[in-house]
Amino acid sequence: MRVARTLFISDLHLTGTHPESADRFFRFLEREAADACELYVLGDLFEYWVGDDELLTPQHDPLPGRVGSAFAVLRDRGIVVRIMHGNRDFFIGEGFCRASGAQIINDPAVMDVGGTPTLLMHGDTLCTDDVDYQAWRQTCRAPEWQREFLAKPLGERRRIADGLRETSRDMARTKPTEIMDVTPRGVRDAFRTHGVARLIHGHTHRPARHQLEVDGISCERWVLPDWYGTGGYIEVADGNLKLVLF
Ligand code: MN
Repeated sequence: MRVARTLFISDLHLTGTHPESADRFFRFLEREAADACELYVLGDLFEYWVGDDELLTPQHDPLPGRVGSAFAVLRDRGIVVRIMHGNRDFFIGEGFCRASGAQIINDPAVMDVGGTPTLLMHGDTLCTDDVDYQAWRQTCRAPEWQREFLAKPLGERRRIADGLRETSRDMARTKPTEIMDVTPRGVRDAFRTHGVARLIHGHTHRPARHQLEVDGISCERWVLPDWYGTGGYIEVADGNLKLVLF
C-alpha cells in the first residue's frame, strides 16, 4: 500500500526575475509532489502579488500563469493544494484559486496532518518583537485598505509593491536580526491558544526543528526553509516528519 504523504513548502518568493528558483519549484512539483496526497504552501509563494489580475498579463510575467497551470495538473491528479497567505502574497484570491484549483486556508489553521492536529502558520505573527512590522500588518490586512489598494490600476499597485519591498529591505538592514525571528512568547501563546503540540511555519528563513515544553507538554516547532537559497520542504509520511533541504 502506498504511504500517504503530505508536503509543506513556503517562502518560495517566485518571480520572473529569478528563474532558477521557479525551475526548482516546477521540478519539485513534478518529482516530490507527484505522488503526494496533499501539498501545503504556507505563505510567500510569490515575491509579491498585487491582485489576481497578475494572471492576465503574461506579456509582463508569464510565471503566475505557469504556477496556476502546474497546480491545476496536481489537482487533476487528485492532489489537494492548499495555500496560506504570506506577507508578500496576501492578495492571492478567488481568481487564482479558480485558475489553479488550489484552496486558500486561514492563517492560523489547525489541520489534521497524518492523524496529528497540527497548527499551520506563515510565521510573521510570531515575530511579536517586530513592532513596526506588526503595525503595518494590521494596516494592510484591513478590508478598507485592501479595497482601496485593489481599486488602483495594476501598474500603480506594482509600483507601490516595489516601493514597499525597498522600504522593508532598508528596515531589515537596520534591525537586529533577532527582532525578525519568532519570540518565545509568541510561540508559547500560539501553542496555548490552539491546544496543539505541533506547529509548522515559515517566514523566518531559519529551517529547523525545535523541541520545547509548554505548560508541561512536550511540543515541536518545525520551520520551513526559503527558496532564495536552494530550498526544501517538510514531509509527513506515516506520522513521521522530516525536513529536507535540497
Ligand atoms: Mn514571509
